[in-house]
Amino acid sequence: MSSSARQEMPGQVMACRICRTPLNTYQDTDGIEPASYRHPHRSTAWDHQPDPVPMIELDDVTISCDFCSDRYPLVVVGTERITSAIPGGDIHNFGTTWAACAACALDLDNNRLTQLTGRALRRLRFSRDSREAFLLRALHAGVGAGLRPGRALITGVRWPRALYRPGELPATRDHLVELMGSRYRLPTSLEQPGIRAELAMSLQQATLYWADLKASILIRRTMSSDPAPLSCPALPTPHGLLLWAKPLVTGHHGLLDAVSWTVRDDQTIGVTVYRAFGGNLPSSTRNAIRDDIGWLLPVQHTTLTTQVTTSDPARPLTVLGSLIAQGHLSISTDPTPDRSSPPNAERIRPGGSSVHRVRVVPAAGSR
Ligand SMILES: [Zn+2]
Ligand SMILES: [Zn+2]
Repeated sequence: MSSSARQEMPGQVMACRICRTPLNTYQDTDGIEPASYRHPHRSTAWDHQPDPVPMIELDDVTISCDFCSDRYPLVVVGTERITSAIPGGDIHNFGTTWAACAACALDLDNNRLTQLTGRALRRLRFSRDSREAFLLRALHAGVGAGLRPGRALITGVRWPRALYRPGELPATRDHLVELMGSRYRLPTSLEQPGIRAELAMSLQQATLYWADLKASILIRRTMSSDPAPLSCPALPTPHGLLLWAKPLVTGHHGLLDAVSWTVRDDQTIGVTVYRAFGGNLPSSTRNAIRDDIGWLLPVQHTTLTTQVTTSDPARPLTVLGSLIAQGHLSISTDPTPDRSSPPNAERIRPGGSSVHRVRVVPAAGSR
């Protein structure tokens, strides 16, 4: 069931070397016997015994929702410590942190414990009157009663991407501004002093850009073909948010869907990269979670100085800057207004709600 005890002591938490799944920890009550580790429950039997190794030694650990085993958990929920006695005198320590998918997180926030357990039973293929159902109801009641405020975003999962339209960029930006002031804890690089406030200020002033499919493919191809470090790019505006029609693939961060920038002075630029999510969600769940979290998840923040290596998360931005400087990409000077905005949107948002298009410049002689 839950594998969330792993998040309490990251250096000591164990995962299976064979399948890269976090393992449940079992400890006897007096703590004398060494802990034992088991795979979490799932609907199909495991075909191997767990081979425990400290999770910190593994890359790309498979994380699933601690409630329903969904492959795309989105938030970490905190509770009081939850334990259960099991026959033979052992105590299963479920810990204080739980990975939750969008649907389970919404159920917990709205105290819908019956729906929470119902989804888990369907996904895990337990009947409603089984012993497992009884145990899950008790566990979920304990979680519901022990909920603590505050949430953390899980940003390392490769979610199916929801489709975007350029007209959705203003709402995407507004939700990001709200996220910076929200209860959600963000990745470590964004929790450095002053970064959330700087990003909120910058996004409010950001000019919005949409790189169409051809431009996205050119940026993607240039990123993989040009290994040379790039210098600090000349950016079209001091604050910007750019979404690609087709996500970029980067070595360390998997798929990236958007980048924002803040020009601090002549030498330094704050860069944040984002990942889209929600392509796997039914529209009702997606809309509810977008109201709460937004459309994009900030994955990493970095400060770009004069040289950028190929593995730098700011590289998509430097490639964009150099392609504009070389005349391969152009930016429309007649932005598309966002018709869904209220009439006073320009006053609320200094960056405005118009979207500039980034396009490939046709080669000379071509039509
Ligand atoms: Zn395994
Ligand atoms: Zn779930």
